[in-house]
Amino acid sequence: MNNVIIASNNKNKIKEIKEILKDYKVSILSQSEAGIDIEVEENGQTFMENAYKKAAEIHKLKNGSMVIADDSGLAVEVLNGAPGIYSARFAGEHGNDSKNNEKLLEMLKGVPFEKRKAKFICAIVFIIDDNNIIKVQGEVEGYIAEKEAGKDGFGYDPLFYMPKYNKTFAEIASEEKNSISHRAIALKKLLEEIAKHTKGSYVLNKCENQHLFKI
Ligand code: IMP
Repeated sequence: MNNVIIASNNKNKIKEIKEILKDYKVSILSQSEAGIDIEVEENGQTFMENAYKKAAEIHKLKNGSMVIADDSGLAVEVLNGAPGIYSARFAGEHGNDSKNNEKLLEMLKGVPFEKRKAKFICAIVFIIDDNNIIKVQGEVEGYIAEKEAGKDGFGYDPLFYMPKYNKTFAEIASEEKNSISHRAIALKKLLEEIAKHTKGSYVLNKCENQHLFKI
């Protein structure tokens, strides 16, 4: 089993990533399971820059261990992409989901449904070693509902409405969310890229001829 550290302290994200990768031959460690007690500063201008920063810092700190970092958030069209990279701290305090949702609803007061288009974006950086770095991005489109609905998920899930399901992300069962979400799409792309890398044999050699992931 190969260890990969997830450069995050966000329990919900870690749970989703572990769930999505559960069939693969890899052991996912959260930052705390890997004994890392730091919060990397997210001061990049894009999701990808922030994901890279988080992955690179942990990779360096843990002497070249393999690291996956996810930086994600919500972009609302009528708000010119806000909250964007500031999604976690939209209302000021980092990770206060109910305040963030409240602020978003307030800013969209009176905006009709068809103008409430939004997308979740997830940038993932996987550092295998200094010469093998994979970057992928996944997106999923929906609308911001007029009030919260549903108890599952986290963050903006109770407001993120998908017409196809007639439900918000917080009303969709977690297995379903984990098969259609921005994070699921990004991780699927990551697995495709890893498969290309393993064919290139670097990962195979590094892992003593074991496949890094199930193929
Ligand atoms: P990060 O930890 O800087 O990537 O911040 C991610 C923030 O974006 C979270 O705190 C949530 O507010 C929001 N977010 C990202 N992914 C999701 C999701 O799948 N559902 C709901 N909110 C999300």
